[in-house]
Amino acid sequence: MVKYVFVTGGVLSGIGKGVVTASIGKIFQFRGLTVDAMKIDPYLNVDPGTLNPIEHGEVFVCEEVWRFQPVPGQTFIIAEVDQDFGTYERFLDVDMHPQNNITSGQIYLSVVLKERFGEYLGKTVQVIPHVTSEIKKRIIEASHRRNPDVFVVEVGGTVGDIETMPYLEAIRQLRLELGRSWTVLVHVTLIPYLGTVGQHKTKPTQHSVKNLQSMGLQPDIIIGRSNKPLPEDVKEKISLFCNVPSRAVISDPDLETIYDLPLIFEEQGLGELLCQLLEIKANSINEKIEEWRTLVERFKNHRELVNIAMIGKYCKIIDSYISINEALRHAGAYLGTKIRLSFIESEEFEEDPMRLSVLDNYDGILLTPGFGVRGVEGMIMSAQYAMRKKIPLLGICFGAQLLFIAFIREFIGLRDANSSEVKPDAAHLVVDLMEEQKNIQAIGGTMKLSSKRMRVIRGTKLYKAYGSTEIVERFRHRYQIVPAYAKMAEAKGLIISAYGEEDNSICGIELEDSWIVGVQFHPEFKSRPNKPSPVYLEYIRNILGNKKKKAENRI
Ligand code: GLN
Repeated sequence: MVKYVFVTGGVLSGIGKGVVTASIGKIFQFRGLTVDAMKIDPYLNVDPGTLNPIEHGEVFVCEEVWRFQPVPGQTFIIAEVDQDFGTYERFLDVDMHPQNNITSGQIYLSVVLKERFGEYLGKTVQVIPHVTSEIKKRIIEASHRRNPDVFVVEVGGTVGDIETMPYLEAIRQLRLELGRSWTVLVHVTLIPYLGTVGQHKTKPTQHSVKNLQSMGLQPDIIIGRSNKPLPEDVKEKISLFCNVPSRAVISDPDLETIYDLPLIFEEQGLGELLCQLLEIKANSINEKIEEWRTLVERFKNHRELVNIAMIGKYCKIIDSYISINEALRHAGAYLGTKIRLSFIESEEFEEDPMRLSVLDNYDGILLTPGFGVRGVEGMIMSAQYAMRKKIPLLGICFGAQLLFIAFIREFIGLRDANSSEVKPDAAHLVVDLMEEQKNIQAIGGTMKLSSKRMRVIRGTKLYKAYGSTEIVERFRHRYQIVPAYAKMAEAKGLIISAYGEEDNSICGIELEDSWIVGVQFHPEFKSRPNKPSPVYLEYIRNILGNKKKKAENRI
């Protein structure tokens, strides 16, 4: 029988509820329990795949796709999920399933289609009970796919939002139906520290908990996000005003590394408290917690520092590339290296190409994934600059496609080479829509998605990274490098390092004489703190080698 932990958010969004959810999962894992997680996103998009990352952060891609079938004969492919799934995978080391990302789009789509198919015949279809029942059904079904000991459900948005209300009502009903020791409600809230008065302020939290109470929900645990740890008297105050014992008020301060959070929670007795509330007999936690502690230490102790320029078009919010940021940090931690990231809007280079020389200050360049026209020329210019200056460069997906365009322009001299996504009337479309994409009309869920097998060519840099000719990585794209142009590029020294097993598509390119590598897939989605992605690891290793060589030359 599955036990449920519901995680709601108060006061503000963006306070790290995903990291809290993942950390709660981790402390159950410390006790040898199995864990799965779910995220509820109250927006009306069916999945986040159509969202600009500036709106809602990165779009994460799962290992598998889910064939969402609200009624017979109507199937929607879901593989793109909320970025929190990346956090869950990185903390829990479990492949998440797209069925575990509920959106309001999916819920309402199901209810409306069911009405058309006569499922509620004779009834007025309403938010309560029809929408709430659909929500409960989705939570229960998803939890039973793996039947973990604990199912942690993160409710997106903030308590008080109109769009979150049906979910909170569904959770109220579930708590009643399942009974006391089967569910726990954790409320994560912001407790600002006001420097001017030197105090933590609890009022916004009091209001947010009142809001929850007015909907029939009493939190069991309050997690207080703040830049400083919560002093005892603040915990006491929250306890008094919010109707929870003071040991159930848990501090969630700023940390050097997010991977520390499960340990910080454990120190405050959160694991024990959760087990008590859920009446779970816990195993000893020593061995697994020690493993994690050793891992976290790696993220804090560095011998080296590497500066990486992340060049892209969604640099306004850091979360746009969160899996890449984390994959770089995983590789860095493994190699005793701190990774310092600088986000550079590629449009800057279009405005003034002289600015490209700032790239000389970096040890490596990462050309990011993306879509559309804006900022593309600047990204191509950076790739050309890296090739001329032999700056290590890793291009991911769009980044790999733009690296290819840069190579064609630079070494074959086709100055108007482009992608049909960017300039459909260019004379040389060296990146073009994949054949199977040409007749697709609907945009949502129709890209090449999820994990695919590839053949890696021996002797390449990519082979050196994986040490294998067979790899499986995740994809999310519509366009691809055109093979005829790849042949021309090969004649000028470009190396094709990987091919899709099913479709023979070009999945990896690289240069011979410098560590400049592009991959059509997203290795960052499978990177975990304890298992860094081979591509990212090889990238950082080469940067370190490069730095060493440079230093020696200087001596
Ligand atoms: N826009 C490109 C494509 O669709 C690349 C996508 C990406 O970077 N994920 O092929």
